[in-house]
Parts: sequence; C-alpha cells; structure tokens
Amino acid sequence: MNNKKFDVIIVGAGPAGVGMGSVLRQLGLENFTILERMEVGATFKMWPEETRLLTPSFPGHGFGQLDLNAVVPATSPGYAYSSEHLTGEEYADYLKQVAGHFNLPVKTGITVELINKEEHEDKFVVHTDKGTFESEFVIWAAGEFQYPDLYPFEGSENCLHTSKVKSWSSLEQGDYYIIGGYESGIDAAYHLVKNGYKATVLSKGEPWNDDNPDPSVSLSPFTCDRLRTIADNKNLRLIGNAEIVKAEKDSGGFRLQLKSGSAVRTSCRPILANGYKSSLSLVLEHFYWNENGSVELTEKDESTVSDGLFLTGPQVKHGEVIFCFIYKFRQRFAIIAEELCVRLGIQVDQSVIQHYRQSSMFLDDLSCCDNSCQC
Ligand SMILES: Cc1cc2nc3c(=O)[nH]c(=O)nc-3n(C[C@H](O)[C@H](O)[C@H](O)COP(=O)(O)OP(=O)(O)OC[C@H]3O[C@@H](n4cnc5c(N)ncnc54)[C@H](O)[C@@H]3O)c2cc1C
Repeated sequence: MNNKKFDVIIVGAGPAGVGMGSVLRQLGLENFTILERMEVGATFKMWPEETRLLTPSFPGHGFGQLDLNAVVPATSPGYAYSSEHLTGEEYADYLKQVAGHFNLPVKTGITVELINKEEHEDKFVVHTDKGTFESEFVIWAAGEFQYPDLYPFEGSENCLHTSKVKSWSSLEQGDYYIIGGYESGIDAAYHLVKNGYKATVLSKGEPWNDDNPDPSVSLSPFTCDRLRTIADNKNLRLIGNAEIVKAEKDSGGFRLQLKSGSAVRTSCRPILANGYKSSLSLVLEHFYWNENGSVELTEKDESTVSDGLFLTGPQVKHGEVIFCFIYKFRQRFAIIAEELCVRLGIQVDQSVIQHYRQSSMFLDDLSCCDNSCQC
C-alpha cells in the first residue's frame, strides 16, 4: 500500500495534465506527482487510426504565435512532426517528449478511483487501485474521452460508440447509420465514405448548417473542408432533426426508432457518435453542477464545493466561455499554478508567468473572449 504525501497531485497525463505539470515544474514545485492509469497521452493512442487533430498545427512560435496544439510555450507539434493535422500517435509522442523534457514525475499504471476530504481536514485522500495517496491540492485532469456516454437511449448498447473503433477501415463493408452529427459523427462518416462504405448521419439538429463562430459549437473548418470533398458522394446522407430514442437488435439486423415515430432498419451495427460523460463522473460530489450540466468554478478554476480541488482541461467553462480545445484550456494552466505557489508559500517566478502571458497562455480576463466575427 502506497501512503505517499504530496503538495499537489495531478490526475491524468493527457495534454491537460502534462501542460499543468510542466508549468508547476517551471515555477519550482518539487513535491508533486501525476497519477496516470495508462501512459502519457493514452487517450490519443485510443483514437481510431485515421483520426487527426482538427486544430491545425503551425510553427509560428518564433513570431509570438504559439502552435494551437502546443501545451508549453516555444514548442510546436506541427514542426516536430512536419504535419498540420497530427495523428493521435504523433500527438501522444509530442506529449511524451514534453513530459520527458521537464522530467515530469508521472506514475503510470495507477487508476484513481475516488478522492475524499474529511470535513476540517486539510488533505485529500486519493484512493487508487494501487493504494492511497495524500495531497493538499488535487488538480483533476482526467479528461472526457475515456468516459464515453454509452447509454443515451434505450437499447444503445446495441450500437458501437466511436471511442471503441480502432480503425474505420477494419469495419465490414456496409451501410452504416451514425447517430450524432458533430465532430465525431462527421469524422466517422468521412472515413467510411472515403473507404467506399455507405454512411447516413442522423442528428438532432443540423450542425453542418450551423455558422456559430465558436468552433466549440459549430464544425471546425477542417471538418467542413473534408465534408465538402464528399458532399456529392452518393454514399453520404446527412439527415437533420432526426432524434433516435431506441435501438433494437433482431435476427434481421438493427432497427432505430426516431422520436418522430418513424424508424429505419440496417444490417450494420449503428455507430454512436454522441460524445462523452467525462471523468468528472468519478468526482461528482466534489463540484456544484449548474443547470446547464457544467461545473461551477472559481476564477482560479477551483471547485466551489471542495477547497483545494482544481479542474483543468476541456470541461472548464466560465459562463458562455467554453474551454474545450487545447488552445483554449492551456490558457488556464498558469493561473492555477500561480495560485498554488501562493498558497504553498513558494515565491512566484514572474519571468515564467510573463513567458506564458507572452505566449497567449495566461488568460485571466475572460471578458475578452468574444466569438463574434466582423467578416
Ligand atoms: C476525435 C477527437 C478529436 C479531437 N480533436 C481535437 C483537436 O483537434 N484539438 C483540440 O484541441 N482538441 C481536440 N479534441 C479534444 C481533445 O482530445 C481533448 O480536449 C483533450 O484530449 C483533453 O485533454 P485532457 O488531458 O483533459 O484529457 P485526455 O487526453 O483524455 O487525458 C486524460 C488522461 O487521464 C488519464 N485518466 C483518465 N482517468 C483516469 C483515472 N481515473 N486515474 C488516472 N488516470 C486517468 C487517461 O489515461 C489520460 O491519459 C478531440 C477529441 C476527439 C475525441
């Protein structure tokens, strides 16, 4: 049984955990660890083989424009892999390089199961499959991808969630129905159609017609580009305003029941592209959940329920400002890190903070996040 005591424990070594750990290191924190159930960048290695980062990488850091997918200043995945849209494998490797460069104290093969903080205690007890750890502060960075939403409607276990697909080309040839028309649904349709399969996207709304300027809400330009290349392909159908309420399996295949009352039949297992429940499902009671399903955070991204528990990554939201992309949530790492230094009595190295600010990685004024577009 481990019984290690730390100042800070970070849960998860994806872009959020690695980016967070890197700034803690640069600010001189010593007694911290990163608990990771698999390996650094594990989520990216679980992506379907064909899937690529949507946000483009470009080595603009020499001119003060940090690569959109970098998690520390002065690095560029685009430069490192000579690619604008990295594969999951490449991006996982980039994260490993960063973790290695900063000699981050990542403990792999440890799954965090729950965290506790007794009333009037000033330490968290972090329960894992390898024993317990104690820490004054916990930064939750366990992401969303590994916690798919598998049961959104009756019979959805008959469907195949996109997060379980190893490669689109490994599926049997056929006529696939995809439930969900956002990024993962269109990504699935694109790869299926490119491989010569038929794909029908069924979506509650019509995301492909949404022109919201925030790519957290509408489809990314990369996806729109790809969609245009298959727009005239007779194997692709996009059907909006089609909400599925039930999936059944019988000897003839699958039957999808729509809310409108109609139904469709297919011989191929339907693909579920409805998103994720998020790892926050493990620590539900440590956050106040507001009516729109997101957690309430202080201006330092700390829980408003459990003092000392911070959240970093795509689940961070402040009002209408959604931090679901790496180039967004990376701007909050140094905010948390600076706060932790102050609370731990460590003098804040302002040159590090300044470097983060200059690299557009220190966003403390959320009123400046305006997605309106003049053109
Ligand atoms: C198909 C797809 C394409 C995407 N493309 C982009 C893009 O182009 N640009 C962009 O910015 N974002 C993109 N995203 C979103 C992006 O992947 C996420 O924002 C990013 O992975 C979040 O980083 P994270 O570190 O919070 O989570 P993750 O990358 O999921 O990392 C979490 C880590 O925590 C570990 N972990 C989980 N639970 C536990 C536990 N209980 N105990 C210990 N360790 C645990 C995991 O093994 C993992 O290593 C995409 C997402 C998907 C699904």
